[in-house]
Amino acid sequence: MINLLDLDLEALSATCERLGEKRFRAVQLFRWIHQRGKADFGAMSDLARSLRDKLADQAQVLAPALIGEQVSADGTTKWLFDVGGGNAIESVYIPEAQRGTLCVSSQAGCAVGCRFCSTGHQGFSRNLSTGEIVGQLWFAEHRLRERLALPDGERAIDNVVMMGMGEPLQNYAALVPALRVMLDDHGYGLSRRRVTVSTSGMVAMIDRLREDCPVALAVSLHAPDDTLRDQLVPLNRKDGLQALLDACVRYLDAAPRDFITFEYCMLDGVNDHDEQARALVRLVQGRVSCKFNLIPFNPFPESGLKRSPRERVLQFADILQRAGLVTTVRRTRGDDIAAACGQLAGEVHDRTQASRRMSRPAIRLHPADAGVRR
Ligand code: SF4
Repeated sequence: MINLLDLDLEALSATCERLGEKRFRAVQLFRWIHQRGKADFGAMSDLARSLRDKLADQAQVLAPALIGEQVSADGTTKWLFDVGGGNAIESVYIPEAQRGTLCVSSQAGCAVGCRFCSTGHQGFSRNLSTGEIVGQLWFAEHRLRERLALPDGERAIDNVVMMGMGEPLQNYAALVPALRVMLDDHGYGLSRRRVTVSTSGMVAMIDRLREDCPVALAVSLHAPDDTLRDQLVPLNRKDGLQALLDACVRYLDAAPRDFITFEYCMLDGVNDHDEQARALVRLVQGRVSCKFNLIPFNPFPESGLKRSPRERVLQFADILQRAGLVTTVRRTRGDDIAAACGQLAGEVHDRTQASRRMSRPAIRLHPADAGVRR
């Protein structure tokens, strides 16, 4: 059976042709699936009965199976989906006054192993298929429309961030068709500015995304120098910060926004000193147009790390802002359901022995913190 959630419009058109149908039928079918949330071909009333019968024999619309739903007091909603083989992934909906954002997972687990990330500590099982990525949006959009009783044609989600479990650029072949479904006017019709791929900094893949499907880009920076970034984001050892910044500059040629968002997770005594804020300014200023998003760390026992105090985060932000860098501090949402950034953990049947790899010596503190804690 073909899962139609695996197909962007071009691939669905080719599938219709193989079924002996005109390509334009694919547009009707695509709209039924993504805009109206239908999985039952019998309900697709303007499709010829012969096509509906063929589809019922050979195709299905199959999103990952829902295991659990938690709704926070602030409206943030977290869904847990079964993706087979002992793996479960999570997606999070974050309602805001002006928009609804869905945070989508791209892998069951993650092989990058960032020190401050609970997904990284779980290890890696496998890449998600396009259908499993799109299926999170398909499910969430139509579930929310029903729950919020939205009028016909009004959508619940107008912003997607690929910031859930996984490094999206390590699952490139499935990611790009999924992005195309999100952007397609016959699908979800999202603006390129409202679809963000967040990466830990895979230089070659950033260049490929620029060519194939440039959407907004967020880069997890987390450190102002290679010595510290090598410890926090192990992938950094491959290319290093200078090559990463060069890739960001190249990306801006095609990007739908005129800046790159740098994510920076604030870790007490590790990367939150004034001097490190000044080093960040020197690193990016005059070189790459960017905004900083400072993220309060969400502690989990295995990390051995602590959240920076609020005053420290504000002082760090102040240094960046005074240097003319637009800087925001991320508000934590869904705290009561562990839905905040870096807390998505699902269930992962690890094939990488991540917990053993990551039980190496504790991270080195900034010299000023090595002796006495603030
Ligand atoms: S922060 Fe992102 S890239 Fe790093 S381990 Fe977590 S999911 Fe993977």
